[in-house]
Amino acid sequence: MKPEVVIWLVRDTCRLNDNPALNLAAKIAKERGAYFVPLACLEPRRWADQQFGMPRIGKHWARFRSESLRALRDDLLTHGSDLWVSAEEPVYALDRAQQSMNIVHVVCDRPVATEERLETARIEAEGYSVITCDVDELFRFEQLPFELDELPATFSKFRKVVEKKPGLVPDAPLKIAELASCIAQPWPDPVEWTETFDYVLSPKTEVRTLGGERSAQAHWAEYLDAKALSHYKETRNAFCGPMQSSHLSAWLAHGCISARQIWADTLTYEAQNGANDSTYWLRFELLWREYFRWYSRAFDWTLFRRKGPNDLEQSGDQNARRFEAWKTGQTNCDIVDAAMQELNETGWMSNRARQLVASHLIYELNLDWRLGASYFESQLVDFDVASNWGNWAYISGVGPDPRGGRIFNLNDQADRYDPDQSYRRRWLP
Ligand code: FAD
Repeated sequence: MKPEVVIWLVRDTCRLNDNPALNLAAKIAKERGAYFVPLACLEPRRWADQQFGMPRIGKHWARFRSESLRALRDDLLTHGSDLWVSAEEPVYALDRAQQSMNIVHVVCDRPVATEERLETARIEAEGYSVITCDVDELFRFEQLPFELDELPATFSKFRKVVEKKPGLVPDAPLKIAELASCIAQPWPDPVEWTETFDYVLSPKTEVRTLGGERSAQAHWAEYLDAKALSHYKETRNAFCGPMQSSHLSAWLAHGCISARQIWADTLTYEAQNGANDSTYWLRFELLWREYFRWYSRAFDWTLFRRKGPNDLEQSGDQNARRFEAWKTGQTNCDIVDAAMQELNETGWMSNRARQLVASHLIYELNLDWRLGASYFESQLVDFDVASNWGNWAYISGVGPDPRGGRIFNLNDQADRYDPDQSYRRRWLP
């Protein structure tokens, strides 16, 4: 008889703690006396894929994901388990495993966007039993006080609804479950995994993010210890500074830390250090992230079309010369050029800088907003499909902005947030 296995399909959740999908898969495996198998698929097709002539996955994100998965394997090994790594798409990896074992369930996160939904549907169409959980959200789907097709049309309405609903709070973070043993991976590690990764961290990187759960926890503890949370709201719009904002985005995007844990820790911090606008504001920003995750599910493929979810005609074109100038930081608008240099070299830029370069691409260079979103997708270390495409749609006016898009006055913004030009001097030759 073939051995029974329960698969935890690792998508964007490279962590052991507060991971409902991992815990559920481990529990089912224990109850059935089955093996528990964490499976990560590297999917070379997606890595080689292009969007408007740009790679979908760039070196910054790839480096961070690779570190996060390696750290996940190490952490699983210390818990007596392991991580299977496949270079194939999940459905092919599952079919390969199914030849020598009996997969009773595949447990994974609820698909956040169209590709993940189609991937899940393909696995189900092959006859596998798929169980999805809300892993990287603050709220479970069942907790939301509306159906997805009634998602509030703007973030403000969403925030008011969820903040006012009595008893609606994120679940307390889960501790890792006891893991059933893993069965040996039925194929050798793929070459994509064993090859050494050629990446040199820029010496100008302010926060030296290292993928993985332990470094996420260490960074977050350092941020809290420094009491930076108490002035978060005043500093978050600055272009630079290691503690100007939390710098958690890459760890959140790769699932190395959960939004529920950050939420809970800010409440503990308030109890110990006092609450103020800043300590609340980090939760406010996590609600933005949350909104975009449900928004992406609600609007599915329309989030990626030129007319966006709002079905609005757009005037931007795809002029190669203007786009190249934007990408390479040669627009002659110094704040945009500095921010694009930072993005290209480090994979990160502040929220304010992201807003400014997006506004410039859409409203001054008159380019198709999807070019900007695609370039961010290929460059950001913290690329997250819902936050990236949601924010770009928002600024371009085809998304959930009640004001129909955001146009920033770049000179005013540069004077206000970089008055001594230190940011521009740092990044411009
Ligand atoms: P903090 O200010 O410390 O915020 C804490 C966390 O809240 C962030 O890590 C993030 O998870 C969440 N958050 C904060 N602001 C936003 C926001 N506006 N929308 C959604 N979540 C938010 N964020 C990503 O994680 N991935 C992306 O691909 C991404 N693309 C963006 C594209 C554009 C055009 C814009 C304007 C914003 C984008 N953001 C994206 C949101 C935001 O800019 C980054 O999350 C933030 O700058 C990361 O720095 P931080 O972790 O220090 O943020």
